[in-house]
Amino acid sequence: MSGAGMIEIADGVFIRRQTELDLTLGFITGSGDSLLVDSGMDPALAAEISPSRIVLTHNHFDHVLATEAFLPCEVWAHEDCIVDETLLESRARYYSDPFEGTLIPPTHTFRDTVTLDVGGRRVDLHHFGPAHSSHDVIVHVPDVGVVFAGDLVEEGAPAQAGSDATPSNWRNVLDRMLELEPRIVVPGHGNPVDAQFVREMAVPAVD
Ligand SMILES: [Zn+2]
Repeated sequence: MSGAGMIEIADGVFIRRQTELDLTLGFITGSGDSLLVDSGMDPALAAEISPSRIVLTHNHFDHVLATEAFLPCEVWAHEDCIVDETLLESRARYYSDPFEGTLIPPTHTFRDTVTLDVGGRRVDLHHFGPAHSSHDVIVHVPDVGVVFAGDLVEEGAPAQAGSDATPSNWRNVLDRMLELEPRIVVPGHGNPVDAQFVREMAVPAVD
């Protein structure tokens, strides 16, 4: 399920496209240090990269199951990001085989915003309120204008709202994200897009 390797979308900022669920991971490098945005579902990636930190954009199974393969490393997430067996229930709707790994909960959490130093490079984590989940994290690399949006944005498929989503706040969160003036927005699934795409995308309906 690996695919075509790392694609550099800005200086030292990469994405890893995975055919499985069209998932998109992020990889941010600094001087002698690196950070992975979502661990995904493919432990084999850990043979290629050794990030000192993983940031989980939210707790949906496809974004978090491979964390164990990258240990030891810090696992960052919003303080409301719970990684436990309950997320395997949604995996069971996609895959009949049991999950054989160990679920790794976050080791480092934040509430509104935190700034990380990735080998001399500034990376900001933001939470702008509930939308796709209760605890969506937006990862911003200001020096190149790249934002990793998690599943707040999807390319190639509509944005998805499950029972843990807050569609009524979705546009508000996107507007806060656009205030960062991103040049490139990386969705949780699909190819990178621009700010105009985010401005015009449909958000899930409030039911
Ligand atoms: Zn999700």
